[in-house]
Amino acid sequence: MHKTYLNADLHCHSVISDGTLTPEQLARRAADRGVQLWSLTDHDEISGQDRAMAAARECGLDYLTGTEISASFAGNTIHIVGLGFDHRNPALLEGLHSIRHGRAPRARQMAEALEQAGIPGSYEGALRHAGNPELISRTHFARFLVEAGHCSDTYEVFRRYLAEGLPGYVPHSWARLGDAVRWITGAGGVAVIAHPARYELSANEEYALFYEFKTHGGQGVEVVTGSHRPSEYATYADMAREFGLAASRGSDFHSPEESHTDLGSLPALPSQLTPVWELLEKRVIRA
Ligand code: AMP
Ligand code: MN
Ligand code: MN
Ligand code: MN
Repeated sequence: MHKTYLNADLHCHSVISDGTLTPEQLARRAADRGVQLWSLTDHDEISGQDRAMAAARECGLDYLTGTEISASFAGNTIHIVGLGFDHRNPALLEGLHSIRHGRAPRARQMAEALEQAGIPGSYEGALRHAGNPELISRTHFARFLVEAGHCSDTYEVFRRYLAEGLPGYVPHSWARLGDAVRWITGAGGVAVIAHPARYELSANEEYALFYEFKTHGGQGVEVVTGSHRPSEYATYADMAREFGLAASRGSDFHSPEESHTDLGSLPALPSQLTPVWELLEKRVIRA
């Protein structure tokens, strides 16, 4: 018999990547907001997993290990969430390390581009927010630009400077799709396409993404996420059924000040989908 979770939240970020709360604060917040099964999915990094697991236990939450891997596909950046893997797996650790390696040089290039656009000092400014040059991200640049008075909130920074085609955007090569999937599955986990509606893919490219993801051994897709509009839930519920993928649910919470969707606040998955946690029953760390 499957254990059903009415409130699973399998996507969020801590200070270890580009969130503003610690793993312990996130666990407490998740529990207070009714989450029953939780995962911390920092970008390209799993060093927070031991803390998240301990905090989950402390707060009475069932837990799945997690990460969100940056990958490149058809000239676009896409994100692959990994759930329920062995967080000590050497190939996974090595793969994640190889992607993080590119972040500092990219950030230097972003800072040069922003300087040309009249914004000095952004590398140092973003690094203050990130703490670690290996994990410096556009979110940290966005926080610096708000702090320095260039924009009124981080969403405005992305609209004016950091999205593709804008002055502070620097193209980057992340992991290959197949590598990202295999790092996760090779460590015993399930790979999930994160927030598919957020990518600027043509219909053909999107089909190719799902098809290739499945071919590489991917098994899930986020259907209900804070990064989707409610109208997009049905679209990706259909895609999940068409491709035989399990469905995931996660807020993509980053910060009480910045995020529109809080932990545990999403609606349930649409019916007639296999929840991704049914594939991961043996990997759940029970509170
Ligand atoms: P990076 O991995 O450095 O490219 O940064 C990507 C992060 O920036 C994502 O994980 C989000 O947290 C944030 N982000 C990307 N696009 C937007 C946007 N349009 N508005 C707000 N945050 C965004
Ligand atoms: Mn992020
Ligand atoms: Mn993402
Ligand atoms: Mn995310």
